[in-house]
Amino acid sequence: MGSILFHGQRYAVDRGKSVLDVLVGADCDIAHPGNQGIYQSCVMQAMSGEVPTQAQSELKPTQRMQNYFLACQWQPSDDIEIARTTDADMFRHALVHQVEKVNASLCRVRLTPPKDLHYHPGQFINLRRPDGVVRSYSLASVPALDGYLELHVRKMQNGIMSNWIHNQLQAGDVIDFQPPCGSFFYLPGDTSQDILLIGTGVGLAPLWGIARDALHRGHFGRIWLYHGEREGAQIYLGNELESLARQYSNFSFVFTVSGDNAVSGLARGRPDDLAFSQHKHLKNWRVYLSGAPSMVNATCKRALLAGASMHQIFENPFEIGEFPQKLRA
Ligand SMILES: Cc1cc2nc3c(=O)[nH]c(=O)nc-3n(C[C@H](O)[C@H](O)[C@H](O)COP(=O)(O)OP(=O)(O)OC[C@H]3O[C@@H](n4cnc5c(N)ncnc54)[C@H](O)[C@@H]3O)c2cc1C
Repeated sequence: MGSILFHGQRYAVDRGKSVLDVLVGADCDIAHPGNQGIYQSCVMQAMSGEVPTQAQSELKPTQRMQNYFLACQWQPSDDIEIARTTDADMFRHALVHQVEKVNASLCRVRLTPPKDLHYHPGQFINLRRPDGVVRSYSLASVPALDGYLELHVRKMQNGIMSNWIHNQLQAGDVIDFQPPCGSFFYLPGDTSQDILLIGTGVGLAPLWGIARDALHRGHFGRIWLYHGEREGAQIYLGNELESLARQYSNFSFVFTVSGDNAVSGLARGRPDDLAFSQHKHLKNWRVYLSGAPSMVNATCKRALLAGASMHQIFENPFEIGEFPQKLRA
């Protein structure tokens, strides 16, 4: 008979019982389809023990790599240790190296991480202000290329954290953060595969990290990045992306502007529309989608219809201040 170590408590496992049965039976506070009504909400992470293939078969390769598993699918016969996937319980400290204002609404924040920090470009970290306010920011840096963690922070009207970062955070400060998490990153796998990256707004941050990571690791399939902003003034990283395209002939990018004002040299419309007008068949492609949830959800469906497989679609939806103008203070 095996046992489960979860949050410092050990639970015996009766024959035929899954991890989920044991934890729910012991009244542990965990998410699962029974209380969330969400498919796959019982995903957990194994800290020790050999995860059976069947408990990972429905998960993405990036989740498998981090030892994620479905708690309802594992009946352990050995002693194992597990954690919630949302448990990055320990806050760590990083030194602020630089807060670089890129334009009126965007700054690039560079943090010097602890030496033993491992991460994948595209994951996110939670930053904590001294008063306890916590917000998530995606990692745009690449460990093999950059000596710091890079975040792109868009200033939101009346946004608590983003205004504090823009107006008060400065080089030399120390800030708390939770270790990187999330499954939105590049895995080498088939390096000849074509990759489509589509982002809106500051959803570009993780895509920039993923593109550079893939190219640096020798990905030789084509990589297309489509990025859209509402206004031309919000476009950023143009010089960096141009120089990446010069360095790697298999990388190309397109900026789009969806607002009313046309900008010379930039495509009009939404990045997803432009991407699908140029790439109609996505069978065997890998697709990364990042930014406004409405775009990510709709584009995921379009990618499936164009032949991409769900296991090859990676999504990073996040809202930032998508409230209607009239509700704003
Ligand atoms: C996985 C993930 C990754 C992310 N990555 C990034 C990233 O790379 N870069 C980035 O900039 N952001 C990112 N975000 C978003 C980020 O976490 C914050 O949500 C964002 O910075 C806004 O936080 P804030 O404290 O400034 O704004 P908040 O204070 O949380 O407010 C957000 C907006 O809503 C408005 N608002 C708040 N409450 C109300 C209300 N009751 N009625 C009307 N309007 C209201 C505010 O005025 C503001 O415009 C990410 C989020 C997630 C979940």
